Amino acid sequence: MEERAKNLLRELPSVDRLLKHPKSEPLLTRFNRDYVTEKCREVLDELRQSIRLGKPLDDGELDDERILGRIEKQIDRNQQPGLMRVINATGTVLHTNLGRALLPQAAIEAVRQAGMHPVNLEYDLDQGKRGKREESIERLLLDLTGAEAATVVNNNAAAVLLGLNTAATGKEVVVSRGELIEIGGSFRIPEIMAKSGAVLKEVGSTNRTHPEDYEKAIGKKTALLLKVHTSNYKIVGFVAEVGLAELVAIGRRHKIPVMEDLGSGALIDLSRYGLPKEPLVAERVRLGADIITFSGDKVLGGPQAGLVVGKKSWIAQMNKNPLKRALRCGKLTLAALEATLALYQQSADVAEEVPTLKAFTRPLQEIEEIGRRALPGLEKALGEGFQLSLEDSTAQIGSGALPTEEIPSKVIAIRHRSLGPERIAEKFRRARPPILGRIREDRFLLDLRTIFNPNDLIPKFEDEAHASP
Ligand SMILES: *Cc1c(COP(=O)(O)O)cnc(C)c1O
Repeated sequence: MEERAKNLLRELPSVDRLLKHPKSEPLLTRFNRDYVTEKCREVLDELRQSIRLGKPLDDGELDDERILGRIEKQIDRNQQPGLMRVINATGTVLHTNLGRALLPQAAIEAVRQAGMHPVNLEYDLDQGKRGKREESIERLLLDLTGAEAATVVNNNAAAVLLGLNTAATGKEVVVSRGELIEIGGSFRIPEIMAKSGAVLKEVGSTNRTHPEDYEKAIGKKTALLLKVHTSNYKIVGFVAEVGLAELVAIGRRHKIPVMEDLGSGALIDLSRYGLPKEPLVAERVRLGADIITFSGDKVLGGPQAGLVVGKKSWIAQMNKNPLKRALRCGKLTLAALEATLALYQQSADVAEEVPTLKAFTRPLQEIEEIGRRALPGLEKALGEGFQLSLEDSTAQIGSGALPTEEIPSKVIAIRHRSLGPERIAEKFRRARPPILGRIREDRFLLDLRTIFNPNDLIPKFEDEAHASP
């Protein structure tokens, strides 16, 4: 190593000296000593590396004061949480990568209370002794779906696993080949089935399954007939499917229970709002399925949860299954879920109070108005070279609900003289909060269906050095 580098390395302060510097004091009152020490080491290592590589140094860059400034900056940057707010202008209302449903205000308040205070989670206030964890939720679900019994686990995948394990471990489950779906995040019916200990018995073909296919497959080992809502794709053309009513009839004839994985499962009829119809849980209950599972954070618009409704004896067996204990929800989830279900039962205008429903049902003029109000600020923030226009488009429900149906929406389409749409998208991702849109052909689109405040679309950059394209 050349002499200059050796001298510079000798000039570097020790960690100890940095920690004793008066400028360290405010850091050491805010953060623990080990953490600050670690950051000192990191920055000193970076400097050592620069010196060894012979990188040019500014005047005074190795002063204790300057080094501590650098450490402070590093710590500040580290303060930004990994999980942060983003603006969803993708046009997918229930975006799995963006956390799906947003909670109703009442649910947020319930979570706050349950997080801050002790709650009667498993305590019966009338009897003054241990109570049941999900009692109030079960009551609401029975009221909203007409089912005999209900329970809840962490997500719908867990509900399917628990249902299969309870009803069919070591036995066969008959499923149509047209319903062997894969949902994002590696949920696949055949694999969940294998993990549940049940044996998959496929029947029919990809596009057509008939009642006789089920009848023929039923034997001594059959424990369950499973129907899966093919939520994220649709087969069109020469198709035949055995409906739930018919499947229940087949099951009854052979004394075999029927389970349905509904995926989204709506509690209110979305066609009331001019939207395409998603299967109603209450209707599926009426058709006689023994076990029905659906998600809490899809069309329902509550917290992540797997809801199970059905026949008393099956729900009781599921509750006794040790897997249920492993898959049960925490108090924050239960608080949010109860508050959301209560809105379905009691609210004068549930579509107004549940943000997911609101995003589905808000009128197009309101969406257009948001766009009109966002445009001037957006043009100003972007500056020269950008071309913006407010246009018609379509959004989608997302999370596998109604995959082929689209809901009308409005977008702000953005183009730039020389930057491609990927670069524009990247620029918006660098804003704080990041703004996520979608790319269509050569343009970057900000979909307005999920935007309620026009200011959300104006990108703000914390580090102006990154702001210019
Ligand atoms: C979404 C979905 C699942 C998985 O539900 P999670 O709540 O994400 O665990 C399972 N089955 C179907 C049909 C689905 O649409």
